[in-house]
Amino acid sequence: MATQLIKNGRLITESRDEICDVLITDGIVKKISSKLTDTADQIIDATGLYIFPGGVDAHTHMELPAMGTFSSDDFKSGTLAAIAGGTTTIIDFANQSRGESLHVTLDKWLEKSKKAECATHFHVSVTDVNERTLQEMQEIKLRGVNSFKTFLAYKGMRLTDEHMSAVMQKATSIGALVTAHCEMGEEVEKNVADFIAADRLEPACHPLTRPARLEGEATEHFLALAHKNSCPSYVVHMTCKESVDALRSAKGRGQKCYGETCPQYLILDDSAYQQEFDQACKYILSPPLRAKHNQNPLWDAIADGTIDVVATDHCPFTLEQREKGRDNFTKIPNGIPGVQERMILMYSEGVAKGRISLQRYVELCCTNPAKIFGLYPQKGTLEVGSGGDFFLLDPNKHWKLANEQLQQNVDYSCYEGLQIQGQIVGCWNQ
Ligand SMILES: [Zn+2]
Repeated sequence: MATQLIKNGRLITESRDEICDVLITDGIVKKISSKLTDTADQIIDATGLYIFPGGVDAHTHMELPAMGTFSSDDFKSGTLAAIAGGTTTIIDFANQSRGESLHVTLDKWLEKSKKAECATHFHVSVTDVNERTLQEMQEIKLRGVNSFKTFLAYKGMRLTDEHMSAVMQKATSIGALVTAHCEMGEEVEKNVADFIAADRLEPACHPLTRPARLEGEATEHFLALAHKNSCPSYVVHMTCKESVDALRSAKGRGQKCYGETCPQYLILDDSAYQQEFDQACKYILSPPLRAKHNQNPLWDAIADGTIDVVATDHCPFTLEQREKGRDNFTKIPNGIPGVQERMILMYSEGVAKGRISLQRYVELCCTNPAKIFGLYPQKGTLEVGSGGDFFLLDPNKHWKLANEQLQQNVDYSCYEGLQIQGQIVGCWNQ
């Protein structure tokens, strides 16, 4: 039996805040108490440190095929980076190709994820709705997938209302959740065509083709469909006040729905696009970074419980991969890195700046995603009987974030030079 005894740390979970010792045996929490005297293979002195449950990142894209290339972290490098940053579970996306069986989809991604170093689960993206797909959703649920992703954006992937309703009805009947990327795809595509026709091809045009209004409208539409079909739903990567308002009113009418945002939308803004290509290209993702006035509504929404989860949408591409879009922003692969920075950014910008409590931090980054996606209490908490993933954080360290300290397989961080309070001093992945 492998045992670990963490001594004298300040344990923070969704329901605890106390100085105590934690005994973990074979990856399971056995005892939480003050002054444990058990012997253990490893004794970890956590005096002066926080003990947090391992982070759960509900939105990553390792090794994602996109625009003729792949996101630059595979499941090995990406999960090692996650662990270094305090995250011990990821939920990635297995994306159905047209005409493909969902079993084949899931098999492909399970094969790729064999090299993962931390717990890895999947949402399955449904892009081709037909009788077989709907039938297979039930079988895929039995294989441990609790959520199906849908798109309102992207030609070839987005669903008609009729297909969306069919997916929602099936999900409801089998006890699964439907998640959605909410942007009005047709209007975005029309905007992109207009910008190309006008020869406006610099990165600063990217956010103009995908305004917040189109995200808000799509969020409202998706939540209305979910309401009509009594389907539990989850909106990924919310970026703006319009979306927050839509989610808040859906929750207000008693609907079972959840929302997610990401650190980039809380910390960065669309002024990043007003730079030379070499800088601006680093921030191309969809939905794009928004005007700064959206940040306070997002912070308010994560603090007051409107938004339930902070994930990353980690989907890195190197500067060389982005070079393809030097003359045309539509050719820059979409997505930014962040799986390693999430836990420390949310501590530093959230907890240390007084915007969220320690407990809310754990809820947003660990407990809620584990609960919503069926991984709790094995993941997302530290209680007797739960899994024993944890990380330790020193709240008194101050440092400056630099990409050279990170191990994500990408040559930049969007947060280069940011002053950070708090430092992760170790992460134990059971
Ligand atoms: Zn994504």
